Amino acid sequence: MMTNLTQTPVRVSWLDRTLITAVVLLSSVFPVELFSNTPPVRKGFDGQYSGKQGQVLVVKVKGEEQATEVKGTFLKRTIPFFREFRPEEPPGYIGLLGIDMQDDPGTYELTVEVKQGEQMKHLSFNVLVAKEKFAVEHLTLPKEKVDLDEKAVARWKAEQQEVQQALAENSRLKLWHSNFVEPVNGKRTGIFGSVRIMNGKPRNPHNGEDIGAPMGTEVAASNDGVVRLTVDHVFSGKGVFVDHGLGFYTMYFHLSEVLVKDGDLITAGQIIGKVGATGRATGPHLHWGVKLNGARVNPYTLLDLPLKNGVMPSTAATVSTSETSPTP
Ligand SMILES: [Zn+2]
Repeated sequence: MMTNLTQTPVRVSWLDRTLITAVVLLSSVFPVELFSNTPPVRKGFDGQYSGKQGQVLVVKVKGEEQATEVKGTFLKRTIPFFREFRPEEPPGYIGLLGIDMQDDPGTYELTVEVKQGEQMKHLSFNVLVAKEKFAVEHLTLPKEKVDLDEKAVARWKAEQQEVQQALAENSRLKLWHSNFVEPVNGKRTGIFGSVRIMNGKPRNPHNGEDIGAPMGTEVAASNDGVVRLTVDHVFSGKGVFVDHGLGFYTMYFHLSEVLVKDGDLITAGQIIGKVGATGRATGPHLHWGVKLNGARVNPYTLLDLPLKNGVMPSTAATVSTSETSPTP
């Protein structure tokens, strides 16, 4: 939700930034020295990655042969890998690892299973999660929008369940391609992950990014996918959940109008709704959210993924297949 009220960005001192950078750099050069308290050997044997809360890491696994399945596990979340052909790079597989905005800073293991027929190979990577300095927002809203009565709580719980059920089934086909579209060309507020104080009480952090735009501005889908769910919910207002395949979802909330239906196939840039202020919103804006294999990540990291110019296998044919016979 966007706010016309006080927003206090948390200051990141020059020293903090330097320290974070230094830790990230050091960890990649001296992994053993820096993490001497963690058990050595196998863990992280195959490489290292690092990123901040809410970021997306591109993990690469080399492999000449066609594997039956390549699958990662990170903090109990499953990361499906897909084959990608890139000019000037050795052939292999790519997995998008989302660091949830509330994953605790620290070093965790990413294990990757590479199945080739009967054979199974295990890889292990260290992933350093660094702390992001999120903003703190102070919001004042009508009391009934914050302190829900019994009936509204019941409604909210049912809505949560509806979303959970709809998103439990990922399309197992990769529908997205590497060039993501910003859904609205508006004022980016930079409040992804912000700590929210509503009417003086701390609430859940903000799990998306808000883009300020006039009422009725067209909202574009950020990539190809299937409309998994359209809603009119107490907090999100009128919203659209798009399944891009392999556990990748984008969400568009507070719309004044929804222009797609559940099950619709959509393409990147297609207009799926219009900016509004439905649900718990203080003014017209788009709430843009991303869930990547269960992790809530900053949608703007999608626009910066180092995947452009990759030669992706065409998905046009497979998309229509997924529509007529949904994957289990
Ligand atoms: Zn929002």
